[in-house]
Amino acid sequence: MKAAVVNEFKQDLEVKNVSKPKPGPGEALVRIEACGVCHTDLHAAHGDWPVQPKLPLIPGHEGVGVVEEIGAGVTALKVGDRVGIPWLYSACGECEYCLKGQETLCPNQENGGYSVDGGYAEYCIAAADYAAKIPDELDSVAAAPILCAGVTTYKALKVSGAKPGDWVAIYGIGGLGHIALQYAKAMGFNVVAVDIADEKLELAKNLGADDTVNGLKENPVEAIQNRVGGVQAAVSVAVTKKAFEQAYQSVKRGGTLVVVGLPNDELPIPIFDTVLNGVTVKGSIVGTRMDMKEALDFAARGKVRAQIETAPLDEINEVFEKMVQGKINGRIVLTM
Ligand code: NAD
Ligand code: ZN
Ligand code: ZN
Repeated sequence: MKAAVVNEFKQDLEVKNVSKPKPGPGEALVRIEACGVCHTDLHAAHGDWPVQPKLPLIPGHEGVGVVEEIGAGVTALKVGDRVGIPWLYSACGECEYCLKGQETLCPNQENGGYSVDGGYAEYCIAAADYAAKIPDELDSVAAAPILCAGVTTYKALKVSGAKPGDWVAIYGIGGLGHIALQYAKAMGFNVVAVDIADEKLELAKNLGADDTVNGLKENPVEAIQNRVGGVQAAVSVAVTKKAFEQAYQSVKRGGTLVVVGLPNDELPIPIFDTVLNGVTVKGSIVGTRMDMKEALDFAARGKVRAQIETAPLDEINEVFEKMVQGKINGRIVLTM
């Protein structure tokens, strides 16, 4: 089968033939139709993070396709089902976190396209109990970005504590951010979108953002404090420290910063302001299987829709280059 492979960090991926995997017990073989390109895949290919992926690696955790074969003991899926293979590829099901419904915190989890091979390929193995069933209303290309960008931002907004009518800031209107703002609108929040590129803010306006700020042209903290008195929640899905600092300062008293983007950096938090203003800083990582079901349902009902450009798998290196340069408006989805 054809796959895009990271052989070494910071090198081009090699698109080549590799052997087609066989599903073991509890697994399914999925013929991939589409796979979204998440900035996490770029972090993986660059070896950016303290915990490094396996090498060689087939990245991709927004892969969607059709089950072609099932391994022994599989009851959750059958041949012909259309499924997605997410970042939460599998969890142990038995630890404290799994038992408490916090499976995204399972210390024994596997991660699609990181600790195990992912969806930048014609075929991919799924852990049957953790694959996401795709609603019929969504074609595979449309569903792909929901598998990570969708569920992650949906969950981040859920844990933000914001209520309908509250102002929420989304920092970074990229693959995650342009979907985040649609979930935020669907949840009844007022949304201010912050980015450093006018075309992304244009997209944000078209998708329903109530206000936009270009961080290169005006100070987003002043703009947000002056125009709406600060936000109840800020979600940072940008990949620069500066956006996180500004997001923190955009929050009003009693508000929450939700940390989602993953630059390999530190966020200095002023103790005095945090205490006196009663600010919460919260990390949020993808979502559980239940969050995924809910996030897909919003998409199936047409309440959120990713802005998508497709590209053939062979063009992955060009796609990564565009991502490095911040030139992708919405999400690029690879087709096999
Ligand atoms: P992306 O490249 O599509 O989007 C990043 C956006 O940030 C771009 O629109 C860019 O213009 C914008 N940006 C850059 N500097 C900015 C600034 N100073 N202020 C405001 N905006 C700025 O990336 P993506 O696929 O949306 O992923 C974003 C980040 O989220 C990555 O670090 C990724 O690894 C991480 N991520 C985290 C989770 C999680 O579960 N926590 C899940 C998926 C992705
Ligand atoms: Zn992702
Ligand atoms: Zn567990």
